This record gives sequence, structure tokens and C-alpha cells, in this order.
Amino acid sequence: MAAGEACSSSAAKNFEDEEDLMLYGGGSGWVEPRTWCDHLPSLTSDLSHIPTPDTSCFRCQHPSENWVCLFCKDVLCSRFINQHMLEHYEQKGHCLALSYSDLSVWCFACDAYLDAQVIQQLRVAYETAYILKFGESPPARTMECMQLENTGAHHSS
Ligand SMILES: [Zn+2]
Ligand SMILES: [Zn+2]
Ligand SMILES: [Zn+2]
Repeated sequence: MAAGEACSSSAAKNFEDEEDLMLYGGGSGWVEPRTWCDHLPSLTSDLSHIPTPDTSCFRCQHPSENWVCLFCKDVLCSRFINQHMLEHYEQKGHCLALSYSDLSVWCFACDAYLDAQVIQQLRVAYETAYILKFGESPPARTMECMQLENTGAHHSS
């Protein structure tokens, strides 16, 4: 006797953990990068031409993982080395800098990360730095809202 039609389909369970993660996002050290800051309009430099990521700090010659000032394109070391980027901000008020170590953009005045892949103005600098660092264009950000097709497989063999 064949009972091919009597397949019981198991209902797909929704993972509510993902929703919880989003709710807890604010308090666990992870800081959401901003998509705007008031200092962006004062950026007027051509960010498609920036120094290479292996440029040494202009002041102390620290060789790597430096920051590039997005206002004047000076390359300066991080707050973990000799704080020359921070010093540069305090002296000149140049608050936006791109990190050559992880290609993130930091605003010293807002004390916040900016999303360089979303902000059009910064994306130029991000893409240029990425190409200089990795020798290829950054991958296009994929849409993460694509619905996985429900695989309600019918076993009828
Ligand atoms: Zn330095
Ligand atoms: Zn500067
Ligand atoms: Zn800012």
C-alpha cells in the first residue's frame, strides 16, 4: 500500500532571537554608525584622490594603520599610537577622518562613526581607500531583505 499523499509538512518556525538582538543593540557596546553628521557639508576636498593606506604618519612616521584627514588629506596616527589625528582635529578643527585599518569614518566632533558606504560623500573616499588597500572595488552591498523561498518540498517518490 502506497500512501504518497499523506506527507506531513513541518511548519517552519520563526526565529524570534533575531528580533531580540535588534532590541538589545543599543546597550552592548556596538554603536550604530550614523548616516549623517552636521560636518559633512564642510567637506569640500576631492576624496577620489587620497594618499595610499601605507603612508606613514606625517608627524611621527608611524608606518601603518593611520588615519587620513578628509579635509586636508594629511595622514596621521591614531589615538592608540601618538594621537596625531586627534591633535590635528584639536588644532585645525578637521573632525572627519578615515581609518586605513578598517576603512571606517570617524567624526571627532560628533564622537561617532559614520557609515561611509551609505553617505554618498564619504563613499568616494571609502571606495578609493578600499581599492588602494585591497586592489579591487568593494563588493556591492547586497539587499538583506530578500525572502528565502519557502522550501515546502513534496516528497512523492
Ligand atoms: Zn603620528
Ligand atoms: Zn586636516
Ligand atoms: Zn560630525
